[in-house]
Amino acid sequence: MEFIDLKAQYRASRELINTRINAVLEHGQYILGPEVAELEARLAAFTGARHCITVASGTEALLISLMALGLRPGDEVITTPFSFIATAEVIVLLGAVPVFVDIDPATCNIAPGLIEERITPRTRAIMPVSLYGQPADMEEINAIATRHKLAVIEDAAQSFGATYRGRRSCNLSTIGCTSFFPSKPLGCYGDGGALFTNDDAIAAAAREIRVHGQSRRYVHTRVGVGGRMDTLQCAIVLAKLERFEWEIAQRQRVADSYEALLSGRVQLVGQARDRTNVFAQYTVVVEERERVQAELHAAGIPTAVHYPVPMHLQPAYAHLSTADACPVASSMAARVLSLPMGPYLPEEEARQVAQALLRALRIPVPAVDVDPEALAPTAV
Ligand SMILES: *Cc1c(COP(=O)(O)O)cnc(C)c1O
Repeated sequence: MEFIDLKAQYRASRELINTRINAVLEHGQYILGPEVAELEARLAAFTGARHCITVASGTEALLISLMALGLRPGDEVITTPFSFIATAEVIVLLGAVPVFVDIDPATCNIAPGLIEERITPRTRAIMPVSLYGQPADMEEINAIATRHKLAVIEDAAQSFGATYRGRRSCNLSTIGCTSFFPSKPLGCYGDGGALFTNDDAIAAAAREIRVHGQSRRYVHTRVGVGGRMDTLQCAIVLAKLERFEWEIAQRQRVADSYEALLSGRVQLVGQARDRTNVFAQYTVVVEERERVQAELHAAGIPTAVHYPVPMHLQPAYAHLSTADACPVASSMAARVLSLPMGPYLPEEEARQVAQALLRALRIPVPAVDVDPEALAPTAV
């Protein structure tokens, strides 16, 4: 069993992907070729955002967003400590200061009720993360930002495709950033990312920053980076987009299988009713995680921990706050465990994973009514 089965995903879209790759090899425009603009148009339409700018990675999307907002040394950005390190890293790289606000124990996303007390005259932006694939509490966060004239950047690296009150993740705030890292819900076969905005000035700035701050050939209007996503990776995402909505539905199917056996028995990450989840990770909360992980490993089931150490306790960031600054994040970091997830995980394997987890937790395994329909191969 694979934690995320990228090979099965490739096999399902092989013809489309190979055709797209070959087209790029034939036309030879490897940098900013026609697939780049085509993908940007498709993704803008998908999210409903006015602008999509593809960039070299999810990290680059976050960095370029902060640069486009004109973040300066000493500025503060409020964010969550419970994320991949890139979220805080880009803030520090620009000489600004990440201000860590604790998370909601139900969803593991930043707790909006704790944000306002951390706003100072130096605060410039709020950067929530839509963790595990579920959008953060964007309306509450946007309302705080509006009151204090702050920008909101959604780190949607894990949530591309999810919806919040009917709108797509990445189009929920000033800027939305996503990643096409291979194991993300919409992945390419290398590095890639994109940022989304409805603000024309921010979009224009981000386009220039992506190519070394160049407004015309060899005219560098601002300081930028080498931050393009290459044409081949854009072509791969275009091919994978064809099945993306179906894949999202399959991820939900796997989550439903897990929930059928685990709900009421194991602590799950909560799902808010007004939003959907693309399950970049399917995460449960357990005690004695190391033992549980070892027992699952012995049963042939791979697991992962996202993330074992919250950012406010990481050696390079610990000086920014006190060790007890975010107790909920610290507690969740010690207990979260991600299970195998992906659109191609068979129903039967999901059931095996859930049963093995219950056994490892010494919880009685309920009898399952096997629905022959559910065991049949799922068609697109
Ligand atoms: C993956 C991820 C990133 C970084 O994306 P890359 O494409 O790997 O640079 C940033 N934030 C979060 C929450 C992520 O999961």
